[in-house]
Amino acid sequence: MENLNNNFDVIVVGAGTGGSVAARFVAEKGLKVCLIDRKAKKDIGNKICGDAVGTEIFDFLKINHPKNEELSCRIKGAKLYSPDQKKSIDLTDPKQAGYIINRLEFGQRLLNEAINSGVDQFLDKTLALDLLYDKNIVNGVKVKLNSGDKVDLRSNILIDASGFYSPLRKKVRSILVEKEISKDDSILCYREIVKFSPHDLKIKNPDYISIILNQDKAPGGYIWYFPKNESSVNIGLGTFMNLKGKVKDLYHQNVFNEFIKTSKYEIISSGGGVVPVRRPLWSCTDNGIMFVGDSACQVNPLHGGGIDPSMRAGLYAANTAINAVEKGNYSVKSLWNYNHKVMTSFGAEFASLDLLRMTLQILPNEDLNFALEQDLLSGEEILEISSTGEFQLPVLNLVTKALKGISKPNLLLDLNYLRIRMNEISKLYKNFPINIENFEEWKRQAIQVYDKIKNVNKYKKS
Ligand SMILES: Cc1cc2nc3c(=O)[nH]c(=O)nc-3n(C[C@H](O)[C@H](O)[C@H](O)COP(=O)(O)OP(=O)(O)OC[C@H]3O[C@@H](n4cnc5c(N)ncnc54)[C@H](O)[C@@H]3O)c2cc1C
Repeated sequence: MENLNNNFDVIVVGAGTGGSVAARFVAEKGLKVCLIDRKAKKDIGNKICGDAVGTEIFDFLKINHPKNEELSCRIKGAKLYSPDQKKSIDLTDPKQAGYIINRLEFGQRLLNEAINSGVDQFLDKTLALDLLYDKNIVNGVKVKLNSGDKVDLRSNILIDASGFYSPLRKKVRSILVEKEISKDDSILCYREIVKFSPHDLKIKNPDYISIILNQDKAPGGYIWYFPKNESSVNIGLGTFMNLKGKVKDLYHQNVFNEFIKTSKYEIISSGGGVVPVRRPLWSCTDNGIMFVGDSACQVNPLHGGGIDPSMRAGLYAANTAINAVEKGNYSVKSLWNYNHKVMTSFGAEFASLDLLRMTLQILPNEDLNFALEQDLLSGEEILEISSTGEFQLPVLNLVTKALKGISKPNLLLDLNYLRIRMNEISKLYKNFPINIENFEEWKRQAIQVYDKIKNVNKYKKS
């Protein structure tokens, strides 16, 4: 390729939501940036997704909210259904309100904003193959260009936003960054966007996204029904990874047949994907490199929403990169601030929700029905947990819940034990070490909290 530049302050791999935002904010500061993606430019943003995103991230980043062709519809909040669907809890607060987006148009907008902010070189149809090292510091990436040529692109800082299957995370030489993501910490999804005539079928709860918990129909995950407009829906389900090969059947039986009660329909899009549903990587940075979005497991473990955190992390990584370039120091010590920002903000919330996710995944339908029907968790409490990762109960509420849950004392005790551990891990994350020197001791304490819940769950499963 003629005129190919090989040296940059920052190279961003992956132009999804995380990578495009990271590239934009670094480029806005005038740094020399290269953004690459394996897809053709026109396909960037075209991802199998539920297409739901809250309003908050746009104010946080001070960027335009979705509008026009990017916006499929607005939603007021979520309805969470018990397995028998006799009870639903409304999750409505301004933070949960949001948008159903046209994923391709949205992705194209974020990409174009990055390019227009001054990205020096955008390479589409370009595959990142391997990390380049100078001694023990990442200083670039080996890529295969559209022409088939393999070239080395050099950077002071590499931002990897190449998604769940990141090939680069596996190539990091130090032990700080996990290479593999456990199947127990991932969810397999399948979804379709289905169009029909509003005369044949009415949209269910058009102002809300609906989520149905059901361990038989969507084991380990949930069923979703998201309206897109008056004549189409995004419907799907997530399950344990070991149901690979069965997930499509589960979808047809328990989602499609359940909701699409008409013979006149058109399937606009269909496909599957994997979402990490755990706390972020123990470390989202190493010498010369930062990981953003799915590549760093920065996804809400409870509902699998990863658009907001990937964009948030994109900004944090950009700010850390700008500081590091100013100082001329690209070591993990210099980039540690990125970890600190992630762990003390949404990382604390996700670490806590990870414990809740592990517990919910093994609760039988009977207990889920009971907990929702008896209001052992109210809409406000679920919102508090899902937005802060913490769950404080006034004594009076505890007593009321104890009375309501009296016929299932073990469930009540389990939920209370979980509540204590969730608050414990959230506090630990909010005190994430500002210096790498204290990281190992912090990690040891965090693992202890996880082991407590894992051991209880193992005992319940056996
Ligand atoms: C079925 C499903 C439903 C979901 N629903 C929702 C939802 O409703 N709301 C929500 O918030 N989140 C949802 N998510 C999660 C969300 O889609 C992701 O968390 C989010 O897109 C993460 O963004 P990212 O930038 O990290 O990665 P991606 O958006 O995956 O972007 C990664 C980019 O890297 C590129 N790339 C990959 N490998 C290479 C390589 N080797 N070289 C160069 N480029 C490469 C890819 O082409 C891609 O453009 C869902 C996920 C799935 C699978």
